[in-house]
Amino acid sequence: MPDDRDELAIVGGGPAGLAAAEVLAEAGRGVTVYERMPSVARKLLIAGRGGLNITHSEERAEFLARYHPHGCLDAAITAFPPDALRAWCADLGEPTFVGSSGRVFPQSFKASPLLRAWLARLDRLGVRIRTRYRLTALGDALHFETPDGPHAIRPRATLLALGGASWPRLGSDGRWVPLLEGLGVAVTPLEPANGGFAAAWSDRFRERFSGAPLKRVALACAGTTVRGEAVITDSGIEGGAVYALSRVLRDAIAARGSARLIADLRPDLTRDALARRLSGGRPGDSTATRLRKAAGLSPVAAGLLREAAGVLPTDPAALAGLIKAAPLTLTASAPIERAISTAGGVRLDALDGRAMLRTRPGLFLAGEMLDWEAPTGGYLLQGAFAGGRAAAAGMLDWLRETGG
Ligand SMILES: Cc1cc2nc3c(=O)[nH]c(=O)nc-3n(C[C@H](O)[C@H](O)[C@H](O)COP(=O)(O)OP(=O)(O)OC[C@H]3O[C@@H](n4cnc5c(N)ncnc54)[C@H](O)[C@@H]3O)c2cc1C
Repeated sequence: MPDDRDELAIVGGGPAGLAAAEVLAEAGRGVTVYERMPSVARKLLIAGRGGLNITHSEERAEFLARYHPHGCLDAAITAFPPDALRAWCADLGEPTFVGSSGRVFPQSFKASPLLRAWLARLDRLGVRIRTRYRLTALGDALHFETPDGPHAIRPRATLLALGGASWPRLGSDGRWVPLLEGLGVAVTPLEPANGGFAAAWSDRFRERFSGAPLKRVALACAGTTVRGEAVITDSGIEGGAVYALSRVLRDAIAARGSARLIADLRPDLTRDALARRLSGGRPGDSTATRLRKAAGLSPVAAGLLREAAGVLPTDPAALAGLIKAAPLTLTASAPIERAISTAGGVRLDALDGRAMLRTRPGLFLAGEMLDWEAPTGGYLLQGAFAGGRAAAAGMLDWLRETGG
């Protein structure tokens, strides 16, 4: 057990902060994790509700290409790749499996047993966790608000892993932005990533189809096409395929005030094949019947077509063209409170290769508070774990170099 237990401070007890704590404690350093909530890793636990998609099994190059900006996590993930994360889970008694989509989950499909085992390991390593400690100021010292009043510490080195601003009730509320800006650090505004978008549905469509899944569609915007699923919401559209396009959709809205999302409602059929099917059937069939029987559209997909076009063309080729490319106008991102993750954050060029702020020796950063983003599919957690571990390695390196 290390003696100098207050040597290193980690603020933020999410996956990035706890992963860093583990590396530092294993290196024999005294580490204290400060967390504003009554317990740590609440977002990891929420991710567990969806089965805890912890990483992805695809090839390394494909995997790394999921992160934006290009190359931002290459070094961290190469040092702690998906296989290492899976081995780490197994070592904590939670072996993983690869689902049909290539996504990786613990066999228990839960986060809580993994977190329990992890916290027990951190405790054995001597990591101290102080909950209900909210970082409120950053100067020569770290200032916290605690249930017992203000508390200030001056650790040898500090890692901030304060998360983004989505789902703020879980702890990460983005209120750290002015603290970092106060140090002269450039922060790209926090925006929702992997979230829904607003669309002006008709009352009829909203009332009938809010909550309805659009299965096996291909969605496209600005030259990027994603196959998958989406869900109609009261105020617009969300779901995996929309999340994967969130960056391009956001950029289009920022540039032009709205984004054009093109929905291919039968991606497995060519336009000609669809037109042939639509020309068949009985002469008296209504357009609704043709959409259902000949084109195989679900009621929500047929409804969406009407939202896109108003009046549907009767000509089979024109109708097939619309089914293959229904234009939808999206006007805004859904609020960040409901997004899965956060885009924006501390600009990466503010950090050196060790994840240390160039202007504040001894202050390191990791996780979702940095200006990188990735789609859902396990990339976010892999990025947080690998980034936290890399920052800890950077801290150790810096401590050695500065005689600590
Ligand atoms: C509903 C939902 C489902 C998700 N599912 C998945 C999934 O299946 N797969 C996946 O890869 N990702 C998923 N994610 C995303 C993933 O959970 C996050 O990307 C990841 O938790 C980020 O880790 P982090 O450590 O950087 O930040 P966080 O997990 O947000 O941790 C930051 C911590 O810092 C604390 N903190 C913030 N400010 C202060 C302060 N001032 N003082 C002290 N402490 C502070 C917070 O309370 C928090 O505990 C999901 C997210 C949500 C919301």
